[in-house]
Amino acid sequence: MKKVEDYVRSIPDFPEEGIIFRDITSVLQDADGLQLAVDSMQNLVKDLDIDVVVGTESRGFIFGVPIAYNLHKPFVPVRKKGKLPCETLAMEYDLEYGSAEIEIHTDAIKPGQKVVIVDDLIATGGTIEAAVKLVEELGGEVVKIIFLMELAGLKGRERLKGYDVASVICYD
Ligand code: IMP
Repeated sequence: MKKVEDYVRSIPDFPEEGIIFRDITSVLQDADGLQLAVDSMQNLVKDLDIDVVVGTESRGFIFGVPIAYNLHKPFVPVRKKGKLPCETLAMEYDLEYGSAEIEIHTDAIKPGQKVVIVDDLIATGGTIEAAVKLVEELGGEVVKIIFLMELAGLKGRERLKGYDVASVICYD
């Protein structure tokens, strides 16, 4: 039987030389791959008592929404700056060159709510660290952070010390 990693396409030198890009479109465009990926991530939260699923733009939406749907819980998008129409809270974070900003609607999470954060991949952990801060500033409690893929060599987990972090596939 095929494993989720069998559906991931690895593209050398994309988007720059020296980077191996882990492409999930090959997972999504196969019905078995899609089902296996969502089910495997769902399994990481199966025993948790949560109130809200948060996903980061844009691939965190792809996996976050079916997980929320299956749990019958709300989904909250964390988006790139300027995309959300109502009052937002913003957080800046560093990229390899420069910085980026993500936002969340201020009414999306209520104080005390238990939150699971979802993204497709953790590299340096900068994106998710910023998402954690947004959730916590709104009073949410991050009970778990899940990824389909983890690039362990970039040590993203170290930025998320103290949090329950899990991934389905771990690359060195
Ligand atoms: P981080 O903030 O450095 O952890 O980067 C994570 C973000 O970059 C995620 O939102 C990913 O979607 C994206 N990303 C980085 N490398 C890859 C890759 O190899 N494949 C797919 N997405 C990637």
